[in-house]
Amino acid sequence: MTINNSHLVACIGAGFSGAVIARELAQAGHKVIVFDSRSHVAGNCHTERDAETGVMVHVYGPHIFHTSNEIVWNYIQQFDDFMPFTNRVKTIHNNRVFSLPINLMTINAFFGKTFSPKQAAEFMDSVGDKSITDPQTFEEQALRFVGKELYEAFFKGYTQKQWGMHPSALPASILKRLPVRFNYDDNYYASKFQGIPKNGYTYIIERMLDHPNIDLRLNTPFSREQSTDFDHVFYSGPIDAWYGYTKGRMGYRTLDFGVERHEGDYQGNAVINYGNQEVPYTRISEHKHFAPWEQHDKTLIYKEYSRLCGENDIPYYPIRLVKDKSQLASYVELAKSESNVTFVGRLGTYRYLDMHITIEEALTVADRFKNADQQGSVMPVFCVDPI
Ligand code: UDP
Repeated sequence: MTINNSHLVACIGAGFSGAVIARELAQAGHKVIVFDSRSHVAGNCHTERDAETGVMVHVYGPHIFHTSNEIVWNYIQQFDDFMPFTNRVKTIHNNRVFSLPINLMTINAFFGKTFSPKQAAEFMDSVGDKSITDPQTFEEQALRFVGKELYEAFFKGYTQKQWGMHPSALPASILKRLPVRFNYDDNYYASKFQGIPKNGYTYIIERMLDHPNIDLRLNTPFSREQSTDFDHVFYSGPIDAWYGYTKGRMGYRTLDFGVERHEGDYQGNAVINYGNQEVPYTRISEHKHFAPWEQHDKTLIYKEYSRLCGENDIPYYPIRLVKDKSQLASYVELAKSESNVTFVGRLGTYRYLDMHITIEEALTVADRFKNADQQGSVMPVFCVDPI
């Protein structure tokens, strides 16, 4: 399609994708209607202050903002102050506490050693299974780079709980998210910038959407037939839902949270993982520790349980197994014949995206729209090939 002057645009979903695109296009003079079927903005990043404890709750589970992209970091800070926060995850295995991601403290504590960085690197090289030259699965990747003992302690049980299947059935890419370090750096993320918004993520999205050219419609599902009412639609819902699941439902994991309130400090850290498969939850997050600048006498924790996403559940993690990817390929084929739709975000492109990548891609897509507007070029159906 070609775009000229001011247009009427729909953003489906008021998460980061929809809100960033809406804001950018509203500022460029377009009229934007944002639809969300839920009663609140911010999608799964939604935050809300708990009345009983006063704690800011990450309602759909912990979200820690991190990025190495300075443009994204500067962009997001227009909408709230970001408070310093470094995610230092602990993991419990067989009643012992270790540091994650695997670092020198983890290796030394686990094996009862006092290795130097060089010794630890040599040791890890010796425990890695070098017969695996080109790891394809999660399990192969783990056995190759951390060896059997650490794999079984920290990854095997956790991953089985998180994904509901054996790590040999999962792609290596999932584990590649986590580094192995031969120093005492226990920052979970290797990103240049990290922080938590002072007023929460919902506040950020509300501010993004607070623009005279944006009309926000909560509790309002959007159907595909309505797209003809708009010059362009940016869709951040599940791509299979857009096509009425005609090629089947792609697999997602959903989460259940066991919410508990206690006095004082429950676990002394924001996130503690549980590596043992017998423990039914994957991790416990204690939300007041995501806001160390606040003081609360009481506390609120989430015990996190993962399961297969059913038809009426909220999708969290795209599973992306071979079956899912072949369905995705069919949906991508269908999408190629769309004339005024761009699929964005985690659900729209069925990818395991962090917040900063979502924002980066939303900014790119918005720029493409603005440029297409000026140059009469064609809008892409996807910002990045989802397959
Ligand atoms: N993982 C694990 N043990 C842990 C933490 C992570 O086995 O203690 C695996 C698990 O399969 C998870 C993946 O590594 O899905 C990526 O972890 P990350 O912390 O990035 O997951 P997220 O915070 O997105 O749930």
